[in-house]
Amino acid sequence: MAMSDEALYAAMKAKGHSPKLDEAGEIDLFVYYDYDNMHNGPGCFRCGWSCSQHSVYETDIPQCTEVETSIEFIEDTGAGYMWTATAKDKKYHLALNGPNWILYDQELNQVASDEDIDELQQKIGFTIVLKSAE
Ligand SMILES: [Zn+2]
Repeated sequence: MAMSDEALYAAMKAKGHSPKLDEAGEIDLFVYYDYDNMHNGPGCFRCGWSCSQHSVYETDIPQCTEVETSIEFIEDTGAGYMWTATAKDKKYHLALNGPNWILYDQELNQVASDEDIDELQQKIGFTIVLKSAE
């Protein structure tokens, strides 16, 4: 019996993972894709762990290997309303688009978005520190 989306999200968060979210802010269930078996599932955007939602059990989910408590974003003076950060060799981009804070990964795939930066931080599981470029 597959876990519900909500149960999967909660179980990943409980193990310290930061599940990648889709554009609607829901857990992205196509991070993992097995074409041969037509299985798909979620993944953590920090450690890269992913699984099939069709065959995972809560006890299969390992602890996230990249426990980060805060990431320092430096203002990108060239782009405006854009900040960048590197954490554990992965680059992130943070943008303010109207009222929405949006976090992107290195390839500019949206990781999470929210109107409120506090709620965005809760979704992604680490504290965002914004710094001005000198
Ligand atoms: Zn993880």
